[in-house]
Amino acid sequence: MTSTVQEQHVARDRPPHRHARPASFDVLRLPWLGRFLRWRGSRRTLQLPVFVLSLVMIAHAFWGPDLAPKNLAALLTWVHFRGLVVLVILLAGNLFCMACPFMLPRELARRWIAPRWEWPRALRNKWLAIALFVLVLFAYEWLDLWSNPLWTGMLIVTYFAAALIVDSLFRRASFCKYFCPVGQFNFLSSTLSPLEVAVRDKAVCDDCQTKDCIRGVRRSENPSSEHYQLPIVQRGCELALFQPRKVGNLDCTFCLDCVYACPHDNVGILARLPAEQLATIGTRSGIGKVERRFDFTVLATIFTFGALLNAFAMISPVYALEQSIADFTGLRVEWPILTGMFTVALVLEPAILLGAAAVATRWCTGSQESILSIVNHFARSLVPMGFGIWLAHYGFHFLTGFLTVVPVAQNAALQSFGLPLLGEPLWQLGGLPESIVFPMEVGFLSLGLLGSWLVAWSIARNVMPRRTVNGFVPWALLYLLLLTAALWIMTQPMDMRGTFLGG
Ligand code: SF4
Ligand code: SF4
Repeated sequence: MTSTVQEQHVARDRPPHRHARPASFDVLRLPWLGRFLRWRGSRRTLQLPVFVLSLVMIAHAFWGPDLAPKNLAALLTWVHFRGLVVLVILLAGNLFCMACPFMLPRELARRWIAPRWEWPRALRNKWLAIALFVLVLFAYEWLDLWSNPLWTGMLIVTYFAAALIVDSLFRRASFCKYFCPVGQFNFLSSTLSPLEVAVRDKAVCDDCQTKDCIRGVRRSENPSSEHYQLPIVQRGCELALFQPRKVGNLDCTFCLDCVYACPHDNVGILARLPAEQLATIGTRSGIGKVERRFDFTVLATIFTFGALLNAFAMISPVYALEQSIADFTGLRVEWPILTGMFTVALVLEPAILLGAAAVATRWCTGSQESILSIVNHFARSLVPMGFGIWLAHYGFHFLTGFLTVVPVAQNAALQSFGLPLLGEPLWQLGGLPESIVFPMEVGFLSLGLLGSWLVAWSIARNVMPRRTVNGFVPWALLYLLLLTAALWIMTQPMDMRGTFLGG
């Protein structure tokens, strides 16, 4: 019998340490929404309008106005998409991956092209996605993407091309699991979501013979054939998450293939406690032990310190800082200065702060664990704070500008097709006043702090049960420091650096 990657996961994964799931709210049991999501065409139905919108954005990027606030590509990407992603993840789950437009051309291509290769073993981790995540953050600052519709359009086209090429060459969902930086952002963020794709009753899985949720459903017209040589009519989880041993939302795209494949209707979208999974230890299906994976530690670190850097780069003091570095060094190009800032913000600063917290933990608890091992354990507790910063930053742009899409769309319709939608463009539309949004930002940051404290406390209790308080305090102080930095950034005046070094 052929042993597939899915087969290996069924055989290899061990049950994690997790509490029995109580009877829970299940979105798939809801009358209308549940029925829609249980329908196999639901994902395509969600993807199609986002795909069409992406095409409109690409067209507007190349042939629309150069001014970013009047261009649908720049406006929707950097104000609406980013804001909606974090707000929806906070309120529901990873719905962007569910409605991901980049997967639609890939699905079409796979009707004719069967990928031939397995993703290289050396790259079955998060390192490539981390590098791409940093690259996107860097390109955002270097190319002033928020103010450049053309580059934004090229980024969207590159994304479509990358998804198509990677998943045409490599089997399963290699692009989502190992490549896509937006996906990694969504996976980490959705650990804070209140919903999770999970089994309803583990006892049913214990008696299940077929494990179709991961193996896929195969046509069995010819019973004499080897079962695993038969064509798949409904695929199982392409991200190698075996439902009964899956923990939380890491690596889950909410594609619902497992829901359609399970012959016992035993997979739902269940309510759970946000962030609880971050404190869970043990083997997770398709992932392994997060607390021993340094790539996950770096991903969580880049996610959190990248949030601070991304917000910091939008305020006035950074412009003054860059200008003074340029004056001091005589540099007249921006990329070496940005490289220095990125190195400090994403390498030196986290190494010093996390290292100091781990050393303090060791000293306070008398732990014999290595510094790296302590950092690996506690890195998961960075995620709520990081998400709080992204939420405050992206939420600010979205909430203060969500109505701007109306006049920009009116203007696009008028200029492209001569269609006066609802009359002249209503340029006066904006969003909520900053006086209302700022308390919300403080609330998001405070929630992030609280989440990180709770996760750090749970980790300290698991890892050093007799010195929980001593193990917790250094990390509590670290998160207080990050909150202070984030609050300082959020109170600074905004300053676009489009004129940097431009004289
Ligand atoms: S989720 Fe469904 S297919 Fe998967 S093991 Fe459980 S009962 Fe079987
Ligand atoms: S098939 Fe895998 S990725 Fe898709 S919803 Fe189920 S567990 Fe998540």
